Amino acid sequence: MNKDIYNSYSDDLSQDGAKEVWEKCVEIIKDNVNWRTFQTWFEPIQAAALQNNILTLQVPSQFFYEWLEEHYVELLGKTIKRVLGREGRLEYRIVMDGGNAQRNKTSVKMPGGTRPQNNHSNYVDMPLKWDDPNNIKTPYAIPGLKRMQVDPQLNSNYTFDNYVEGDCNRVARSAGMHVAQKPGATSFNPLVVFGGVGWGKTHLVQAIGNEVRRLHPNKTVLYVSAEKFINQFIDHSKNNEINDFINFYQLIDVLILDDIHLFIPAAKTQDVFFAIFNHLHQSGKQIILTSDTPPKDLDGMQERLLSRFRWGLNADIQPPEFDTRKDILEMKMRQEGLEMPDEVVKYVAYNVQSNVRELEGAMIALFAQATLNKKEIDIDLAKRVMKNFVKTSSRELTIEAIQKMVCEYFNLPYDRLLIKTRKREVVQARQITMYLAKKFTKSSLKNIGEHFGGFDHTTVIHSCQTVENLMDTDTDYKESVLELQQKVQLASI
Ligand code: ADP
Ligand code: MG
Repeated sequence: MNKDIYNSYSDDLSQDGAKEVWEKCVEIIKDNVNWRTFQTWFEPIQAAALQNNILTLQVPSQFFYEWLEEHYVELLGKTIKRVLGREGRLEYRIVMDGGNAQRNKTSVKMPGGTRPQNNHSNYVDMPLKWDDPNNIKTPYAIPGLKRMQVDPQLNSNYTFDNYVEGDCNRVARSAGMHVAQKPGATSFNPLVVFGGVGWGKTHLVQAIGNEVRRLHPNKTVLYVSAEKFINQFIDHSKNNEINDFINFYQLIDVLILDDIHLFIPAAKTQDVFFAIFNHLHQSGKQIILTSDTPPKDLDGMQERLLSRFRWGLNADIQPPEFDTRKDILEMKMRQEGLEMPDEVVKYVAYNVQSNVRELEGAMIALFAQATLNKKEIDIDLAKRVMKNFVKTSSRELTIEAIQKMVCEYFNLPYDRLLIKTRKREVVQARQITMYLAKKFTKSSLKNIGEHFGGFDHTTVIHSCQTVENLMDTDTDYKESVLELQQKVQLASI
C-alpha cells in the first residue's frame, strides 16, 4: 500500500479523502470480522473528515462508540495505521439520531477519550410526587416492609448459563451481559431486543434481570409483559391512580418490558410509558425492551418513543441455525438428564427449524413417546413422532412421492413412469421427476436413477441438464415445471 497517497490528504478537510481512506479500511476490516459483525458495527460508520492523518468517523450513537472501543479498538488501530501510516489516528464524531431534532455532535479521541455527553434536554418529564413508598398502591410491591420491595416477576430458570450462544444471538447476548454488569451505566440504554416468536427474547431479557439481581442485590428489578403493563394501566386509570402507577414504575432500577409491539394499538399506554421511560433514562436507570418487530417497522408506535429506542442498542435475534439448534437440544437434554443417540439429535435439530420452543416441544414429545411405548429412541421413532409434530423440511420428501405428483400432473399411470421407454410423454415426465428429485431430496444421482427402472447417474445428470435447457428456451415448458415445483414444495411443508 502506498502511504504517500494518503499522506497527501493530510492537510485538507476533504470528505472525499476521508471516504477514500475509510473505504480502504473497510476492505481490511471485512477480511477480519464476519459479515454479521461487519453489518452491525461497521456498515453504519461514515467517514466524516480527514485532517493531519486523523480520520474522523461518524458513528450513530454513544453506544456505538463504546462498543467499538471495547471490542474493535485493536482492529481499528491496526487498520488505520496500515492505511495512513504510523501517524494515523482515529477520532469519533457521535451524531445522535434524535428524531425530534435532537442532534449531538461530540468528538471523541480514541483510545482513552472522554465519553461524549448526551444532552437529553428535550425530555418531557412527569413530576415525581410521592413521600412514602408504602403509601403508593403499586402493582408488585410486597406490603408491610419498611423499604419498598418489589417482586421482580422473574423466572429463575432463565439464566445466561442455560442460554446457548450462537451466531443468531451473539450480539444481543453479549450486550445483555454487558448491561447486567453495569445496569444503567452503559450506553445500551434502552437495550431493545427484537426477533421472531420463540427465538429467545424473553429468555434473554429474563436472564439479564436474574443476573442483575445476582450481581447487584440492592437494585430493584422488574420484569413485566407489555400486556400486563397495559392492563395495569387500564385498572389504575379507572381508579384515578395513574400517578401511583407512574410513580411506582419510576422507582424501578432495571425495567424489563417484554413484547412492546403490543403497545401499538394502545396510544394512552404509550403516553404513560413515554413519561416513565424519560424519568428512568434521565435518572440513569436501565430499560430493557423486546419486540417481535424491528423498532423501525413498529408502525403505530409514537415517533417520540421510536426515537428514544434508537438512543440505545437495537439488537436482533435471528432464528437459530443448525449448530445452535443442536447445542440447545444437547443442553436441554443434559439439564433434564435425558439421552438420545447423536443421529437423532441431529435429525431433530435439522428438521425443527422454525423456533426454539418447537425444538423443545419435539424433544419432549419424543421422550414421551419412548416412555409410553417402552422403546429406545431411534431414528425411526423420531421420524414417526416428528411427522405428527412438526413440518418436516423439503429434504424429507421421497422420490416416490415426487414421482406420484408428476404422474398425477401429466395424467400418466405410475407404472408407466418406471418403464424404460423412449415414448416422448414418459421421457419428459421422467426427466422432470429426476430434476425435482435431485432438487428436493438428498438422494444420490445413482439412487435416483435406480428408482426409474435402473438408469445410471449419467442419465440423471443428462435429464437435469435437459430440463434446465428447455426451461431456458420454452416458456410453456418452464411454466409446467415451475407449477410442479410449487406443488412439490407445498407437499413438503
Ligand atoms: P421469545 O420470547 O422470543 O418468543 P423465548 O425466550 O420464550 O422466545 O424462548 C422460547 C423457548 O426457547 C424458551 O423455553 C427458551 O428457554 C428457549 N430458548 C430460546 N433461545 C434459547 C437459547 N439460545 N438457549 C437456550 N434456550 C433457548
Ligand atoms: Mg417472549
